[in-house]
Amino acid sequence: MNSDIKEILYSQEQIQRVCQELGAKLTNDYQDKKPLVICVLKGAVMFMADIVRKIDTYIELDFMDVSSYGNEMESSGSVKIIKDLDVSVKGRDVLIVEDIIDTGRTLACLASLLKHRQAKSVKICTLLDKPDRREKTISPDYVGFQVPNEFVVGYGLDYQGFYRNLPYVGILKPAVYEKN
Ligand code: 5GP
Ligand code: MG
Ligand code: MG
Repeated sequence: MNSDIKEILYSQEQIQRVCQELGAKLTNDYQDKKPLVICVLKGAVMFMADIVRKIDTYIELDFMDVSSYGNEMESSGSVKIIKDLDVSVKGRDVLIVEDIIDTGRTLACLASLLKHRQAKSVKICTLLDKPDRREKTISPDYVGFQVPNEFVVGYGLDYQGFYRNLPYVGILKPAVYEKN
């Protein structure tokens, strides 16, 4: 599986350092707010698990699974809810945890849904940001790394369901998806 990776962009150590830094910021910003932290399944699972353990205040966790009717390489923007939240967001400070923001379609849709449901505030924490491809004016409040315009996998991010278990984020060799 490692031989399908062209280049490692962010090592396990770099990711842990960024989680530590963002966790410290979030601890400060969400002191006394008891936010609801929402993990967008499945890509954000690793990031969620690591970052919440660096947040040292009261937080509640919930999970949402959305499908964006895209192909394997990009989203389409019309988001369908596969698994909704268990907890109501009404009046809550909400923090969405995502793996990557690309065109911004998925998060634009999700953020407006949560605002429509009367969340008190909606902020976005993403491990990766690919600003070159942005179509929606959505800017994440907390960003781990800005990535170049390449298709990346690992640390939760998949290609056709695989590679999520790689402990680092890397660029997939184009030969892997060109043969499909
Ligand atoms: P957006 O709606 O912002 O265009 O797309 C966000 C979703 O598209 C991500 O949650 C992810 O599922 C997928 N995506 C976008 N870029 C990449 C990438 O480089 N690698 C992987 N594995 N998924 C991506
Ligand atoms: Mg995602
Ligand atoms: Mg995917």
